[in-house]
Amino acid sequence: MKTVIHYYDFWLDSEEARTQYQKLTDELKAKGLVLFECVSKDYEYMQKIKALDGKEVELDLSFLFDNQWNTTPVEGISSIGLRIHDWYERIVPNHKRKDGYWIEISDEMKALRADTFRCGYCAAKYHRPKFEWCDSCISDRYLKQDNLSSLYLLPLSIRDREAREIRRKQTVPKTLVDAYISANTEMLRKYSEDRHHSRLADIQAKMRAIDVEYEIYKTLIESKVLTETQIDIDNIIYYSHSQQVCFGWRDKLSDEKRKALLVRLDEIGFTTKYVVTFK
Ligand SMILES: [Zn+2]
Repeated sequence: MKTVIHYYDFWLDSEEARTQYQKLTDELKAKGLVLFECVSKDYEYMQKIKALDGKEVELDLSFLFDNQWNTTPVEGISSIGLRIHDWYERIVPNHKRKDGYWIEISDEMKALRADTFRCGYCAAKYHRPKFEWCDSCISDRYLKQDNLSSLYLLPLSIRDREAREIRRKQTVPKTLVDAYISANTEMLRKYSEDRHHSRLADIQAKMRAIDVEYEIYKTLIESKVLTETQIDIDNIIYYSHSQQVCFGWRDKLSDEKRKALLVRLDEIGFTTKYVVTFK
């Protein structure tokens, strides 16, 4: 599916320019286009659009929106494709300047939006669904019962504000409410079960780290390595997250001390068991 981009750049400093701009915006509104205005410093983006003025681009239909489209890669312009809006204007400091573009919305593009239904809660999309209500998000942890009407599916051709109004007026069927209550109860049960397990796992991990730390200090003390090399016990730290024993973390060890320490640590097999680092 293809569209054509039309770039425009008006300076509204003459009556003629103002008339021309007014004429264009009236035409675009008559076509049903809705302006998307954006404060953007991405000057390059508009340069790319300008280079594509009057040219055809291929649309990437893998993800659809109600007011914009993705294109496939455009040779010489973008290797990943562009995001193009139905009608876009960059908000620039000089309000007399109107720098924007619009794209041709073909009947095929319109039909695609009309046939693609979206959930107002999770934005899941369905092509010509055989059901009226979304069934992707019913177990969502943040979905509240008061918000169930937002699951009503509406085509992308209906814009956000209108869609919100339509959904607000929907009566949520009892079957959906029942399904929600059941899914929500199960989700909360599962969620708290997972948290209980992870709490125990966290404590266990801390216990394991304490055991390792105890073994490290016990080995260093009982082997008399610290006494022999005259290293203060407070100058050693065990980082449980990286499982490293760091010597000299408060006061850097001299090269001599470090060498002597390493010899002794090797002798007692400490270095094969633990990762030793120096500050
Ligand atoms: Zn949904």
